[in-house]
Amino acid sequence: MIRAAFPGSFDPPTFGHIDIIERSRAIFDELLVVIAENKQKQYLFSAEERRAMMVEMVRKWKNVTVTLCDTLIVDLLKKQNIKIMVRGVRNVTDFSYESELSMMNKALSPGIETIFMMTRPEYLVLRSSSVRELAAFKGDLLALVPPVVADALSKKYN
Ligand code: ADP
Repeated sequence: MIRAAFPGSFDPPTFGHIDIIERSRAIFDELLVVIAENKQKQYLFSAEERRAMMVEMVRKWKNVTVTLCDTLIVDLLKKQNIKIMVRGVRNVTDFSYESELSMMNKALSPGIETIFMMTRPEYLVLRSSSVRELAAFKGDLLALVPPVVADALSKKYN
C-alpha cells in the first residue's frame, strides 16, 4: 500500500492542482491532500474555506482525502507514516524553488522522498495568484477553476 501526500496553499485550488491530484491518485494507492496553514502567510481564503473547496473537488475520488496542517508538513507526514510528497512543477523557476525546498525537507526528514510531477501544457501559466488577480478584475474564471471556486471568488470580490 503506497500512500503519498500533496501539500500546498491552494489559495484557491485550480485545475492545475486538480490535474496533479488526478494523475497522482492513479499512481499511488492513497493520496492525502494537505492544506497548509502558515501563520506567517496572508491568505485570501481561510484554511477551512480552502479545505471545503478542495473536498468538493476531490469528492469523486475514493482514494483521495483532504486534511489541514498548521505544523511542518514533514512532521505531519511522519505522524501519518507517509513517505512520499508530490509537488507540481511548471517551469525552471518552480523547479529551482522546489528543489531547494526538497533539500530542506530531506535534511529535516531523510525518510521522505519528494517526487516532482510536470504540469500539463495547458496549465503551464496557471497559478493561484493570477486566478485571484483575475477574479478581482471580474474576469472569466471558468477555464481556470471549477464552478465551486469561481463562485467563492465572485463572493469574495463582491
Ligand atoms: P505553495 O504553497 O507552494 O505556493 P501552491 O498552493 O501554489 O503551493 O501549489 C501547491 C503545489 O501545486 C505546488 O507544488 C505547486 O508547484 C503546484 N502547482 C500549482 N499550480 C500548478 C499548475 N498549474 N500545474 C502544476 N502544478 C501546480
